[in-house]
Amino acid sequence: MNLIGHFVDGKRVSGSSARRGDVFDPATGRRTAQVELASATDVAVAVEAAERAARSWRDASLAKRTAVLFAFRELVHARRDRLAEVITAEHGKVLADAAGEVQRGLEVIEYACGIPSALRGGYSENVSTEVDSYSLRQPLGVVAVISPFNFPVMVPLWFVPVAVAAGNAVVLKPSEKDPSAALLLAEWFAEAGLPDGVLNVVNGDKEAVDTLLEHPAVKAVSFVGSTPVARYVYQRATMAGKRVQALGGAKNHMVVLPDADLDLAADAAVNAGFGSAGERCMAISALVAVEPVADELVARIAQRMAGLRTGDGRRGCDMGPLVTAAHADRVRSYVDAGVAAGAVPVIDGRDVTPDGDPDGFWLGPTLFDHVTPDMSIYTDEIFGPVLSVLRVASYDEAVALVNASPYGNGTAIFTNDGGAARRYQHEVEVGMVGVNVPIPVPMAYYSFGGWKSSLFGDLHAHGPDGVAFFTRGKVVTSRWLDPRHGGVNLGFPTQT
Ligand code: NAD
Repeated sequence: MNLIGHFVDGKRVSGSSARRGDVFDPATGRRTAQVELASATDVAVAVEAAERAARSWRDASLAKRTAVLFAFRELVHARRDRLAEVITAEHGKVLADAAGEVQRGLEVIEYACGIPSALRGGYSENVSTEVDSYSLRQPLGVVAVISPFNFPVMVPLWFVPVAVAAGNAVVLKPSEKDPSAALLLAEWFAEAGLPDGVLNVVNGDKEAVDTLLEHPAVKAVSFVGSTPVARYVYQRATMAGKRVQALGGAKNHMVVLPDADLDLAADAAVNAGFGSAGERCMAISALVAVEPVADELVARIAQRMAGLRTGDGRRGCDMGPLVTAAHADRVRSYVDAGVAAGAVPVIDGRDVTPDGDPDGFWLGPTLFDHVTPDMSIYTDEIFGPVLSVLRVASYDEAVALVNASPYGNGTAIFTNDGGAARRYQHEVEVGMVGVNVPIPVPMAYYSFGGWKSSLFGDLHAHGPDGVAFFTRGKVVTSRWLDPRHGGVNLGFPTQT
């Protein structure tokens, strides 16, 4: 059995813990590896390596740091197919989708190559007579990144390139469900010239996370995962005095107004609802149809769903399996609950015949109509291929429904009315808004983040917020010695 360990101080290592997690190929249901689940001691060893490395890495010139980033970008770009295969083998998403994930990660590496511009400070001459002031941003030291299973490459790359480019050392704790991609990234970073200890990967579960949240050398935590864990991470790490951004779960609404192009809206709903088997934090899981469009829209979505192929992600299918057997059971139980609650299953994914091994973790795309806001298929984040249609009478009712959700990650409005779209982007309490764009993931040079229970903290991921998160500001006020400025004066300094 392949045993997956850690990457510490520039090399793959085994830890001291005897605890293991199972890693599966979700399309076959077979266990393909075991992953070491780090002990507190294993994590401490990685943090100490990062602490040593951070001391010299912060002094590496911007030219040296960006040279490493550029080389890393070339390696990831050249090996992106390999990375996609590793993602598909452990996560299950289809290869084309995995390749898309790698591409979005590459864009953050490219953004981090421009760190010299992003770190530029300000300078004011003569703030007082012959006194100058300037601002700079410095790295924090050691930072922790804790990532979820659903984007084993993209989410680590939301943070690691920016953190490293800004002069920090990182301890990355990937999801124990699909740990291999993070180790490859760390190896390739080292190959690109990153000094030992600047990027470490520890595999593990709650024990590893808790150790990172409490370790005094860890100055900041970037977390992505489900809302209950994000809230816990935020509370515990801020109590320990750390800077935290904790991105949580989602329930993303797509509002379709009566004037929308229904073919485009149906395409978008299918793509955003069932891509990656709904295991995306920006997946559309609630479709809000403003009457009288619902009947027609549901018919067009169902027609498209009939052509979807669910199966092994290596066989050119549209949609792969769910990540684990337990998760597939959980999603299936939500479908059971939806039927029991009276929602109408227009297409029932429990009946799917997959193009893949019968032991894979399958559930086909499922479409529910006549869903009401009290049903668990609407209130809970299912994180599977289940799309719920809610019918409302007006635009105002649609906005009120979206704003009543505890989540606020992404949303989209489909309309040909620019005024309505503009009103929606102004009124909706959600961090990322699409106008006729179903999955409005910001480019790397903007920042990614939701509102309310979808993000705890204030700075979002990558882009300018990412740079601000991984650095702290300093303002220097300087006067070069000149005898004219002597004299005792205990008054508060003011400009002269
Ligand atoms: P998860 O919360 O189960 O796990 C996330 C990370 O936390 C993993 O590294 C895991 O090992 C660790 N963890 C799990 N339980 C823990 C605990 N009790 N204490 C400490 N650490 C713990 O999430 P997941 O199932 O891996 O990922 C899916 C979730 O992530 C979904 O809710 C999805 O919406 C969310 N997500 C959000 C975004 C976003 O940008 N907001 C992006 C991707 C995924």
